[in-house]
Amino acid sequence: MEVRTRFAPSPTGYMHLGNLRSALYTFLFARHNGGKFILRIEDTDQARYVEGATDVIYRTLRDIGMDWDEGPDVGGGYGPYIQSERKDMYLPYAEQLVREGKAYYCFCTKEELDARREAAAARGETFKYDKHCLHMPKEEIARRIAAGEPYVIRQNVPESGEASFDDIIYGHIAVDCAELDDMILIKADGMPTYNFANVIDDHTMGITHVMRGNEYLASTPKYNLLYDAFGWEKPVYIHMTPIMRDAQHKLSKRDGDAYYEDFLAKGYLKEAIVNYVALLGWNPGDEREFFTMEELIRAFSVEGMSKSPAIFDVNKLTWMNAEYIRRLSPAEFTTHALPYYEKAGVAGMDHAVLSRILQPRTEVFTQIPDMVDFLAQLDETYSPELFTNKKSKTNPEVAKAVLSLVIPALSALPDWTEESIHGLLLGMAAEQGMKNGTLLWPVRIALAGKQVTPGGAIEIAVLLGRSEALRRIALGLAKLG
Ligand code: GLU
Repeated sequence: MEVRTRFAPSPTGYMHLGNLRSALYTFLFARHNGGKFILRIEDTDQARYVEGATDVIYRTLRDIGMDWDEGPDVGGGYGPYIQSERKDMYLPYAEQLVREGKAYYCFCTKEELDARREAAAARGETFKYDKHCLHMPKEEIARRIAAGEPYVIRQNVPESGEASFDDIIYGHIAVDCAELDDMILIKADGMPTYNFANVIDDHTMGITHVMRGNEYLASTPKYNLLYDAFGWEKPVYIHMTPIMRDAQHKLSKRDGDAYYEDFLAKGYLKEAIVNYVALLGWNPGDEREFFTMEELIRAFSVEGMSKSPAIFDVNKLTWMNAEYIRRLSPAEFTTHALPYYEKAGVAGMDHAVLSRILQPRTEVFTQIPDMVDFLAQLDETYSPELFTNKKSKTNPEVAKAVLSLVIPALSALPDWTEESIHGLLLGMAAEQGMKNGTLLWPVRIALAGKQVTPGGAIEIAVLLGRSEALRRIALGLAKLG
């Protein structure tokens, strides 16, 4: 049997990390098993329609490399793949169930239902639709429909017995039918409810494995009653444990930072995000932590999926991102870093040098502007105390002597390259019988106006260019009186 899985997002305008993980596991399962990965857009709930929301889904999946075999824009033998384009398909299925007594027309108005709900509440009961319209005579139904009265179609849930299924992660799940509401299948406007469309689509698209968040665990017995009512074979269910913010709270859609695109904007690499998300609820059964998509496809199995909730740890993600950044080629690093160089006003400087000093210490790209702000602009108010450093054996007095020496020498250098500056400064230190650090420390402080910098004095001098470097060193000297 060919495995057919689907990712069935409701277009909300964002790709939450939980959605991303559902898509990823579904995709990996399909690919690992040589099956099909299908994209279906669940937009029956038009009230929630968000302009451009499907584009976010397409863009994210493609960006990550999760191409779908069948779906809205690529087609396939089971289309259309957007629920709103399937809207005429659902009513005949509901009418079939009505003919078979497994569903029925319901004419109860909102006011009537509200009154019964209030009465139930007054009795201390939770209201469940009371099958009021179930036994309505055929003639009355026909008359009311002909008169144009609005109606819905409800599922006729058995009054006793159990609805159950075996979930691959959660095991045996059973509910008493007596607890289940006769849910609406077709709304008064003729459109299917979300739950009904979901079941009809999974069946008519030949889905063999349903993988999704555990928020659907409770609805699944009801869905299965529909499969039973139609006499259809049920898919295998694989409900995923939630992603938690901490031990008590789910990572909610309201956690502003739980969106894929926000992480990109915050300077995370998509490969790192995907790798991290893959491990949120799955492990390969060994110690490996770094995976390309190809490696994930090879390693993924449902057996490795966790039965307990995963806790989202942004520090772990950041650590992983830093690892991914270190593995980039210098040119790739520069490509990612360039927007931040621009933002920081250093894009005019030597990119190779900038990237060489920044790559080893960048955990997320958004840190870059803060790390290089001193290059764009010297904070001239720095304290001369910064020139003091025990390890380099410098103090303001030593610094003054060093800076007075280097200014004429640097001014006279024939060319302004790392090699020439390096040769000059280290030659001078040797001549003076100084440790390299004793000479380089004051130069770097004068160039940067701070003690902690990416890169050393020579790299910073090259980045600044001769005239700005000399201006800063002269300023440092002046500070030292
Ligand atoms: N449309 C649902 C959602 O976006 C997914 C339902 C399913 O996978 O069955 O949460």
